[in-house]
Amino acid sequence: MKQSIGDFTQDELRDVIKPAFRVKQIWQWMYHKYAIDFSHMKNLPKELATFLEERYTICPLEIVTAQESVDGSIKYLFRLDDGHTIEAVLLLMRDEQYHQDGTLKHHKRYTICLSSQVGCKVGCAFCLTAKGGFVRNLTPSEIVYQVLMIKKINAIDANRRVNIVYMGMGEPLDNLDNVAKAIKILSDPDGMSISASRQTISTSGLSAKIAKLGSMQLGVNLAISLHAVDDALREKLMPINKAYNIESIIHAVKDFPINERKRVMFEYLVIKDINDDIASAKKLLKLLDGIKAKVNLIYFNPYDGTLFQRPSKKSMESFQEYLTKRGLLCTIRESKGLDISAACGQLREQYLE
Ligand code: SF4
Repeated sequence: MKQSIGDFTQDELRDVIKPAFRVKQIWQWMYHKYAIDFSHMKNLPKELATFLEERYTICPLEIVTAQESVDGSIKYLFRLDDGHTIEAVLLLMRDEQYHQDGTLKHHKRYTICLSSQVGCKVGCAFCLTAKGGFVRNLTPSEIVYQVLMIKKINAIDANRRVNIVYMGMGEPLDNLDNVAKAIKILSDPDGMSISASRQTISTSGLSAKIAKLGSMQLGVNLAISLHAVDDALREKLMPINKAYNIESIIHAVKDFPINERKRVMFEYLVIKDINDDIASAKKLLKLLDGIKAKVNLIYFNPYDGTLFQRPSKKSMESFQEYLTKRGLLCTIRESKGLDISAACGQLREQYLE
């Protein structure tokens, strides 16, 4: 069976493709010019193109739908070679800005939110991906090509910087080897050159795997989906907490090697009357004492069938004010893509219905 060429690092390809400079050429066709057909790689000798054709496939996914939000975010549903579907979101973080004389101040700034698995084992109560159960891990190329296809479709130049968050479908630390390989391929300076410091792994808090990720010294950022400040509530929202409780997560985070200029992000999904009170803010402050942390408060994004509700703006702001006044960096994340159901798993669910 043919393998996807996007599963391999340059070093691995150099072991089978000679001379070595050909690998760099192939890499440039793939990751700079977004070629998804070996026959388009014009400067390769015919025999090499035939060899590649016989041995490898290139693009392991195809686009099924794209939904654009009023805020400019676009959510993509991709179909994999075995028919399963995954989703990824292009988030427009800042629009283009111009100086008064009309010259460009800065380009649009994007973050791409990637899936790491088809389905998920973690089973968070607020998540639609969890409802479908776990199907399988994504391969490195299936992760890498979510970025590549989104850049290709939107004509985002290869040199333009984007940020990556592993925050789509799946628990990235439950597929750590393939995610780590994707991080290396995406950060290769001869490829898409998205440095690890621009990539963030968002985890539900698999403490043992946080330690393993730290030992890999990838230089990647860490975000923890905390959402609750006591184990009883967290177990209800995230049953994984029975295996990895809050204390074990905080312990693992304290040992995690972070870049001096970075902070560990703690995601806190604020749900009306569940975890939006000042008592919770107070506990959160205590819990994160001694950690170079940043808290992201996220509005719960209601979907059909959920019992949870969106918190009020006032309670979000009071929560934020309590933390920032006491020196803990805290932002309220805008619900980007609210109108396109951009919480993980929601587009796929709609499509499957
Ligand atoms: S929120 Fe993330 S970790 Fe939790 S079930 Fe959904 S996909 Fe898995």
